[in-house]
Amino acid sequence: MTNVGFCPLCRENKAIVKSHIFPKSLLGLDREAVVPKFFKGNRSVSAGSPRREGVYEKLLCKGCEDKIGAFESYGIKILKQAETHFCRSDDFFSIKFDYKLWRLFCLSMFWRASVAKRVEYIECDIPENILDMIRVSLLDPSASDWPTNLYPIRVIRSEQSCIDMRGMHIFPKKYIRNDNSEFLYSFINGWGFICFPGLYEKKSRLEALFSFEARKDVLTIFKYIDKKDKFFTSFWEEYRLEYYNRNH
Ligand SMILES: [Zn+2]
Repeated sequence: MTNVGFCPLCRENKAIVKSHIFPKSLLGLDREAVVPKFFKGNRSVSAGSPRREGVYEKLLCKGCEDKIGAFESYGIKILKQAETHFCRSDDFFSIKFDYKLWRLFCLSMFWRASVAKRVEYIECDIPENILDMIRVSLLDPSASDWPTNLYPIRVIRSEQSCIDMRGMHIFPKKYIRNDNSEFLYSFINGWGFICFPGLYEKKSRLEALFSFEARKDVLTIFKYIDKKDKFFTSFWEEYRLEYYNRNH
């Protein structure tokens, strides 16, 4: 039975297929079921029952699903290389890359989470005008020449001694810091995706935070081993220190 509906990417009525919002291969689900969790202080708390197939919904037409699939293949290939690197080294991972494909891979996950209807993604809201810019770029990557200070996404590898992170997924959430800076973040199977949902200014704290993401030739991914076992503490600590170092 065909399931015809509105595809939010090409905006046509077509047969709609099953889409994972975050790619299934990123979940590492061969043996593990995805376990939706959130963090409460320094403890991880289950946010639902494990799902062996990950989290998906009927979202896009087949043509659009294939388009995004190409960005996913590229992004996952890089993450696999980074994972192999981190297995033998705690040093950062650095690689020459295709900035456009990588960016579209990262943005496509937040875009899908924003247009998805499932309750898990309710906190991921990107303004309509930005959503549409991402949509146009996903359809035609040649339209994606955005400035690097617009919607930057940092990807980090996070490992913590007290929490088993295999298959763990934190759905995209909004995080507002004490200084009122706002971020979207998501965590999946050891990978953290941190997005600044806007345009940051030059010489700002955010420029320091996303300095590596402004490079179009080389991608750098850092690994954080949090000895205090507090999620992302190292990341935010770095945020503070970088700003301090730059301004003192
Ligand atoms: Zn479509």
